[in-house]
Amino acid sequence: MTVQATAPDSKTLLPFPSLRLLGMRIDRVDMTTALEAIAGYVHDRTPRHIVTADASMIVTAAEDPEFAKITESADMVTADGAGILWASRRLGIPPTDKVSGVDLAARCCELSATNGWRIYFLGAGPGVAQEAARRIPARYPGAQIVGWRDGFFAEADEPTIVAAIRDAQPDILLVALGIPKQERFIDRNKAAMGVPVSIGVGGTLDVFSGSVKRAPPWMQNAGLEWLYRIAGSPRKRIKKAAALPRFALMTLRAPRS
Ligand code: UDP
Repeated sequence: MTVQATAPDSKTLLPFPSLRLLGMRIDRVDMTTALEAIAGYVHDRTPRHIVTADASMIVTAAEDPEFAKITESADMVTADGAGILWASRRLGIPPTDKVSGVDLAARCCELSATNGWRIYFLGAGPGVAQEAARRIPARYPGAQIVGWRDGFFAEADEPTIVAAIRDAQPDILLVALGIPKQERFIDRNKAAMGVPVSIGVGGTLDVFSGSVKRAPPWMQNAGLEWLYRIAGSPRKRIKKAAALPRFALMTLRAPRS
């Protein structure tokens, strides 16, 4: 699929049809619509925030009104994960397409070559963003990765990081600091960074760098990628895993529509 880097038709800058799941707005967008909107945002240059929501994010938003405000004011919220699709079906809400952070980020890198999109990687452990920046142009020849920075920094370093991102003038910033850190970072800094599109993408740079493998396609298709990731690093993902029974309970207790 090609997505032209042309002037947006005015529809792509309007709010999307959406559903509401356990309090959170989720936009009814598929991958093509999301990429067309991104092309429109890049052309328009106003800083925008794209959230890729999963079950743990819904739990966090339900418990933290300040975080809920951030997701509510995002320009696009995609459904990232089997949990969201399961809960929608269970509550009688027609589910939307899954547009995961890692898939959306990969498509942006692929289209970087054809559309001239400049991309910046922020996040993950030491060396990971740099290795991702080395591998992505090998995978998508012509992709422009214009800067990178690891995601473990002191609060005092944030202004320097924000300035470096602004100076690199990316069109798209992939922020891989995990939920809810990445959404807070984008919300706090998007005006100062002046980047047209910032996307919270979780563990994407670990995948891009080759340090974490994605689940095999059959598990992805069966909606079991979350299980693969927990099984792969149970210690690291204990907090994430703890949100799942809470999410299931919230769903089972909610009224069906
Ligand atoms: N991370 C980071 N800085 C932090 C905490 C986490 O850069 O202070 C990175 C971590 O190394 C990993 C990503 O954020 O690459 C979080 O990945 P995860 O798959 O847990 O994301 P989530 O599922 O929360 O979206």
